[in-house]
Amino acid sequence: MGHSFSSLPAEERPRFLASNMIHECNNPSTGGEDSLFQARIILIRSALQEGRLEEAVPIISKMIEDMDNALLNIALTGESGAGKSTFINAFRGVGHEDEDAASTGVVETTTNITFYEHPELPNVKLWDLPGIGTLHFKPESYLEQVNFSRYDFFVIISSSRFRVNDAKLAQKIREMGKKFYFVRTKVDIDLNNERRSKPRTFKEENVLQMIRNNCLQHLQKIGIEDPKVFLISSFELESYDFPKLQDELAKELPEHKRHVFFLSLPNITEDIIDQKKASIQKRIWLEALKTGTKASLPFVGIIKDDDIAQLKKHLINYQRKFGVDDASLLKISQASNKPMEEVKALIKSPHLLTVTRDESISERLLKYAEVYFSVNGGLVASGFYFRKSYYTHLHFLETVANDAKILLSKLWETSV
Ligand code: GDP
Repeated sequence: MGHSFSSLPAEERPRFLASNMIHECNNPSTGGEDSLFQARIILIRSALQEGRLEEAVPIISKMIEDMDNALLNIALTGESGAGKSTFINAFRGVGHEDEDAASTGVVETTTNITFYEHPELPNVKLWDLPGIGTLHFKPESYLEQVNFSRYDFFVIISSSRFRVNDAKLAQKIREMGKKFYFVRTKVDIDLNNERRSKPRTFKEENVLQMIRNNCLQHLQKIGIEDPKVFLISSFELESYDFPKLQDELAKELPEHKRHVFFLSLPNITEDIIDQKKASIQKRIWLEALKTGTKASLPFVGIIKDDDIAQLKKHLINYQRKFGVDDASLLKISQASNKPMEEVKALIKSPHLLTVTRDESISERLLKYAEVYFSVNGGLVASGFYFRKSYYTHLHFLETVANDAKILLSKLWETSV
């Protein structure tokens, strides 16, 4: 195929290449894409099939742009002491004693409300809103005061006793046509107390069910049908209902926001790691598709220094997204009392760009592409440089995501 490609006249090449790339259209799907996403894919596919590349390119670019620029504003509200800042820190993957822990948020001058940027994604902001009963905020005008239209959704945080104010707020958020999720924090404390006071009859599921029913009853009493309640512990996000909460939130978001939402999640379960991976795969595929529809493509397997620098940048970016970059590894090494070298020896991605004496870096990279392709399938057109680069990216992403899973299980081992 490489031969037939190189023998094509230059003006025929993009069409040939793009029609090859179409076959991958269905590949990087995380499922549940919204109708806009699907409609765009249909447009791209028909444009490519009919050789109208000039129509496909702006749609692809727009999709990439939407993904990269999506803003996500999450509002956290609840009485003081309910656990908002602890939840915010946990969600951002920031330790309570870290420099950028939730005591160092930015105060918005117009509303006097504090927001916290995600450490990796400045487009994602978590807003710490005061409880509805706070002195300066009147229940009737609370939502206007906090600028409610800015938020993609509200998370109402409550702990211990159910408060009437929380229910009122839930009702008002509904009235404004916004979504809210009711989060009951500190369930670890409830469980410990119950375990201690009723050691013989204690059953975790029963205690959780009791707390859940109590919240549901209160919400239903004020006329909220089908309320959503999630029980969590901010010190153990991977347990209880946090994974379910994260699924619910993702389901409600439009595709481009879902991408940034997945990226923002802490790497605390295999499921989150897989969703994050699938979302980044989609982004890589769109980029490759865009490159594929451009005319001036190198089509031989020569990898230049520039390309290697680019790949390295992407690799570091993936590592940061999955918490296996050097800074995160250092934290893991300190927390687990294991030397850095030992932590690094558990995983593969730090060694991806290390070459041995009898192999050049470009040979190594091409091998990665072939390995990825042979394991995962796909339509490889031999000799097409951009395809090789595409598969190399996917291989890097896969390696990093696997590393995150390895560390997750090893960390878990050490904490039991
Ligand atoms: P805020 O005023 O709503 O921001 O509340 P904080 O986040 O400061 O939390 C108040 C207290 O509750 C702190 O001592 C936290 O450590 C503790 N806390 C918050 N969430 C949890 C949780 O899920 N489990 C436990 N055990 N303690 C929590």
